[in-house]
Amino acid sequence: MSKVHNFSAGPAILPQSAIDASVAALQNFAGTGLSLIEVSHRSKEYEAVVAEATQLVKDILKLDDNYAVVFLQGGASLQFDMIPMNWLNDGDTAAYTNTGVWASRAIKEAKLFGNVNVVASSEDKNFSYLPKGYSIPKDAKYFHCTSNNTIYGTEMFNFPETNGVPLVCDMSSDIFSRPFDASKFDMIYAGAQKNMGPAGTTLVIIKKSFLETRVTKKIPTMLDYAVHIENGSMYNTPSVFAIFVCMHTLRWIKAIGLEAMESRNTAKANLLYTEIDRNTLFTGTVAKEDRSRMNVNFILNNVEFEAEFLKFCEAKNLVGLKGHRSVGGLRASLYNALDIESVQVLVDAMQEFEASKK
Ligand SMILES: *Cc1c(COP(=O)(O)O)cnc(C)c1O
Repeated sequence: MSKVHNFSAGPAILPQSAIDASVAALQNFAGTGLSLIEVSHRSKEYEAVVAEATQLVKDILKLDDNYAVVFLQGGASLQFDMIPMNWLNDGDTAAYTNTGVWASRAIKEAKLFGNVNVVASSEDKNFSYLPKGYSIPKDAKYFHCTSNNTIYGTEMFNFPETNGVPLVCDMSSDIFSRPFDASKFDMIYAGAQKNMGPAGTTLVIIKKSFLETRVTKKIPTMLDYAVHIENGSMYNTPSVFAIFVCMHTLRWIKAIGLEAMESRNTAKANLLYTEIDRNTLFTGTVAKEDRSRMNVNFILNNVEFEAEFLKFCEAKNLVGLKGHRSVGGLRASLYNALDIESVQVLVDAMQEFEASKK
């Protein structure tokens, strides 16, 4: 079969080395003679997988012992509940930015547990830019932001000064895509299926000093971060397969390094945005300074060409380009594992489509 170029927003493209290792482990995991999906999560071979995946996260992000790293279930969406449940006592306030569907969902859940101060929003322009110049009230228990808005294609390259308020970030769709100073964050979380692995696990990183400021009231055991941290992601059966794939993706990321990963991702994004800006048929939908390197949103100026263009792409094995159902248009996701050759095939298709309309 000829190569399929996967521009899906998530679940999304993974490095071939992680897929090959998964195929092999489904047959025979670590020489046990058993499949990865029938082996005990308490076996020494599997415990080594969780330990290595955890260590790789610490190595890649240069996290010191002040941070705990766990792999949980329930997707990034369960974090929208767990965070306020763990940190908001009755009457407490948390600060949030509203920069898209996922941020809005996080806000909706936080309101179940405490007061939410939405300090900035870009809803007025359908989330096509990132708000700037806002301030974070000192009495907020934490400040929550979304580093990359997967559905709208905006990405934060600078994080605000929080004046001592703990910084919590949903990095589901741009974690490990570039270097950043992790020591500024009190908590980072990311659903695996955008840039790290298959669906089924969520990476959670928490600063221990922040963990100590959790609520005093009792919370359900499975929703208590301290329980998962004490048990090294093994309080209950973890998502065995998903963590295994993450470990292999993380090995691949570490071998490349975040600096080189950023160069790769910048080159891919520049190639595509340059064509969008040049091509007479297409327009980018995001404010230029906030354009994401991970999810590139654009439209056909003549909406009647959209279905035709998607078909045209599909015939060239370019898949996953339809925009999210809530915004329409086109979206090309350029996650870490996507090669620049695939972006070039898309750019060539855009030029050929333009020529066909002359
Ligand atoms: C996809 C996504 C989510 C939701 O992830 P689930 O694992 O499906 O719950 C949350 N935040 C961001 C930024 C996302 O891209």
